[in-house]
Amino acid sequence: MNIHEYQAKAILSSYNIKTPKGKIAFNADEAAKIAQDLGGKIWVVKSQIHAGGRGAGRFTNNPDGQGGVRIARSNEEVKAHAAEMLGQVLVTKQTGPEGKKVKQVYIEEGCNISRELYLSILIDRSNSNITIIASTEGGMDIETVAKTSPEKILTLPIDPVSGLKAFHSRKISYLLGIPENKIQNASDMMSSLYKAFIDLDASLIEINPLVITDDDEIVVLDAKMNFDDNALYRQPKIIAIRDEDEEDPMELEASKHDLNYIKLDGSIGCMVNGAGLAMATMDIIKLYGGQPANFLDVGGSADKERVTTAFKIILSDPNVEGIMVNIFGGIMRCDVIAEGVIAAAHEVELNVPLVVRLEGTNVELGQKILIDSGLPIVSADNLADAARKIVNEVAKAS
Ligand code: GDP
Ligand code: MN
Repeated sequence: MNIHEYQAKAILSSYNIKTPKGKIAFNADEAAKIAQDLGGKIWVVKSQIHAGGRGAGRFTNNPDGQGGVRIARSNEEVKAHAAEMLGQVLVTKQTGPEGKKVKQVYIEEGCNISRELYLSILIDRSNSNITIIASTEGGMDIETVAKTSPEKILTLPIDPVSGLKAFHSRKISYLLGIPENKIQNASDMMSSLYKAFIDLDASLIEINPLVITDDDEIVVLDAKMNFDDNALYRQPKIIAIRDEDEEDPMELEASKHDLNYIKLDGSIGCMVNGAGLAMATMDIIKLYGGQPANFLDVGGSADKERVTTAFKIILSDPNVEGIMVNIFGGIMRCDVIAEGVIAAAHEVELNVPLVVRLEGTNVELGQKILIDSGLPIVSADNLADAARKIVNEVAKAS
C-alpha cells in the first residue's frame, strides 16, 4: 500500500525527523490561505499523487507548462499554481501515459537547498535483508544514477536481527559528506527512519531528496512510503490514511475479495489458482504469441462467489478479448470449480471466448460438467494446449 508524500512526512515528523512545515489544500483559496499562515517568502506547491517524478512531469492540458512541483514567491503565485494543478492530469515517468488526476496539493515552506542527497530503506529480497541505499546524487531518480554513476551509490545490507547500528549510520554519513558537526543529527535521523520502517511494517521509505540546507540543517524534502499489504491488519493507523481514490479500482475490488489481481496491458484475461501457476500461465500465453491482460490468483480456496467476482473483474477490463482459466484442483475439486465457472459465465454474460484447463481431483467430472453446460467453453487438456487455444480463439474473433 502507498500513501501520499504529505502523509509520509507527517509520519516521519512524528518520529522527530525534520520536514518542512506544510499543509494540504483541496482548492486554490485554501492553498493561498495556507501560504499566508505559514509565512515566509518562498513556498513550494506540490501535487499529491501516488507517483514520483512530479517535478519533471507535465500536465496533459498544458504539456509546455511547468511540472507538478513548483516554487512560488507570493500568495497569489501559490494560488495560481494550485489552480493550475488541481483537477488536472499529471503525467510522470511513474504514472504511465494515462497520468493521474491531482486532487490535492501540499503547500510547504520553501527551503534553501545547499545539497540534494538520496536515502532509502527497503526490503531487498535478493539478499533477504533490510537494505539502505544512499547516494550523493539526490533529486534525480536513482535508477538513472545506478546506470550513469553506480560508484556514487552505497548499498548497505542491515541484518534485521541486530538492526541499524552506529557504524552503519557513520558509514552513510561519510559517504553523503554530512558536515562533521551534524553527523550525530544524521545518525539520529537514520535511527528514527529505521525505527519507523520496522514499527510500521514498511517495505520502502525513500527520501529523494534529503537535503542539506544553507545553514547545514538536514531536512526531508520528499518522502515516499510503501507498506507491506500482508501486515496491514496490524497497522490500523496506516489503513486509516489509505487513499482508495489513488488505487486502481479493479485492484481495489479484487483486494476486498482476497484475490491477488494486477492489471496488465494485454488482451487475454487469466484466472488461475496459485501465484506460481499464474506466473507460468502468463509465460505460456506469451510463448504462444498472446499477451496477458492480468495476473490473477484466486487462491487455493476459491469458491463459486470468488470465481464469479474474479470473472467480473476480468471482464470489466475493456481490453480483454478472451479468458483462459487454468485451475489445478489440489485441495479444491475440479467439479466445484467447473460449477463456479459455469455459474459465473451465466451471471456475467460472457461475450468473449473462454478456454478452461482443469487438472487434479475429480477432473473427469469437472470436464463433463463443462461439456454438459452447453456453454461455448473450449476445454483444454494441458497448459500448452490451453494457451494455444486461447491465442487462436482471440485471433479468430478479432
Ligand atoms: P518528485 O519530482 O515527485 O520527486 O518531487 P520532489 O518533492 O522530490 O521535488 C522535486 C524537486 O523540487 C526537488 O528535487 C527539489 O530540487 C525541488 N524542490 C522541492 N522543494 C523545494 C524547496 O523547498 N526549495 C527548492 N529550492 N527546491 C525544492
Ligand atoms: Mn523526489
